Amino acid sequence: MSVSSQLLQKYARLIVRTGGSVQPGQVVQLTISVELHEFAALLIEECYQAGAKKVNVDWQYDLQNRLNFLYAEQDVLSGVLPWEEEKIKQMTVDLPCRIYIASEDPDAMNGIDAEKLSAVMQSRSKVFKPYRNMIDGKHQWVIAAYPSVKWAKKCFPALDAEEAVDRLWDAILKTVYVREDTDPVEAWKAHTDFIKKKADWINAQGFSSLRYKSANGTDFTVGLIPGAKWEGAGAVNALNGVFYICNMPTEEIFTSPMAGQCEGTLVAVKPLSWNSQLIENFSITFAGGRAVSCRAEKGQALLEQMIHMDEGACMLGEVALVPKESPVNQCGFLFYETLFDENACCHCALGMGFKEVLPGGDKLTVAQAQAQGVNDSIIHVDFMIGADDLSIDGLRPDGAETPIFRNGTWA
Ligand code: ZN
Repeated sequence: MSVSSQLLQKYARLIVRTGGSVQPGQVVQLTISVELHEFAALLIEECYQAGAKKVNVDWQYDLQNRLNFLYAEQDVLSGVLPWEEEKIKQMTVDLPCRIYIASEDPDAMNGIDAEKLSAVMQSRSKVFKPYRNMIDGKHQWVIAAYPSVKWAKKCFPALDAEEAVDRLWDAILKTVYVREDTDPVEAWKAHTDFIKKKADWINAQGFSSLRYKSANGTDFTVGLIPGAKWEGAGAVNALNGVFYICNMPTEEIFTSPMAGQCEGTLVAVKPLSWNSQLIENFSITFAGGRAVSCRAEKGQALLEQMIHMDEGACMLGEVALVPKESPVNQCGFLFYETLFDENACCHCALGMGFKEVLPGGDKLTVAQAQAQGVNDSIIHVDFMIGADDLSIDGLRPDGAETPIFRNGTWA
């Protein structure tokens, strides 16, 4: 591997200090692939250097998961054992800082019965969701990435394994501002300040809706929830006031729009990877806030299946603004990993929205947030609509218009 140990050290430190913002006396829950045990050790040491009380590791292995789904019965996989429930219950006591390292093979679950996958997920989530709701907003968490060979080969199929991993490393480090000659912690401060400034600006505008237009056929208007905030860059742990960064990289500011209030067509500018399969060259048309038709050159049936997953799957849960100069976009390839792909350009997401964007939202139940217009669904699927010529205007209740984006970037 050609990434220097000095860079790896910087990256580990960035994830722990800036991303998770691990505080003295905190428990850390690290979730990482067994293949990355050496990087795991770097992270664990950084956590203790930052004063962590204890670091617990959840070791993951793509292939184990795949084999379970291939051979074990659905109801066996759907069950939650008592110790598994005790483990997540303990998290409501410890409120650990959670660090998740994404490195999965995008094709890991290729060929696995999609219905089995979603049935198992649904059934296990039912047990875990109440505990997740209890820790929501009260702990710090961060997702960052590490290139596995299989992931890298998926991005660069023509290269040999070593070259592919090098290329992916290069891209990842670029997008998270880790370089030999600078301090990434400082770089992130400047970066998050910039994003925050943009979010503050748009929050002060009082827009009631957004209008999107592009020569590719995008012609779309979406209503916003009065008083809902645009967020970006990071979040604050409501319990201890600690600022942390959930996603590395992050380039977006986002909000949840008014569910059931959008009209027109959105044309995707990048393929969408869903359940290990690709949907390409597609558009979705909305009426009365719901997706009423869609067209895809590839993956038409898959796209339709996605939109019909449940009641809320045909409505939007997120609109996000990302300028086309984003370092992820400049990498110029599809990462097959939402953490990156959603930070390439402007996007929307079908499905679940974020109650945190509502004033006092962290204290609302899902049903209460829904009543105020935040969509709910078992899916949340981002798709990219940030064409190079995309223009977005903000409309106010009195009809006044302000340009937000011109030619794919901040106006
Ligand atoms: Zn997003």
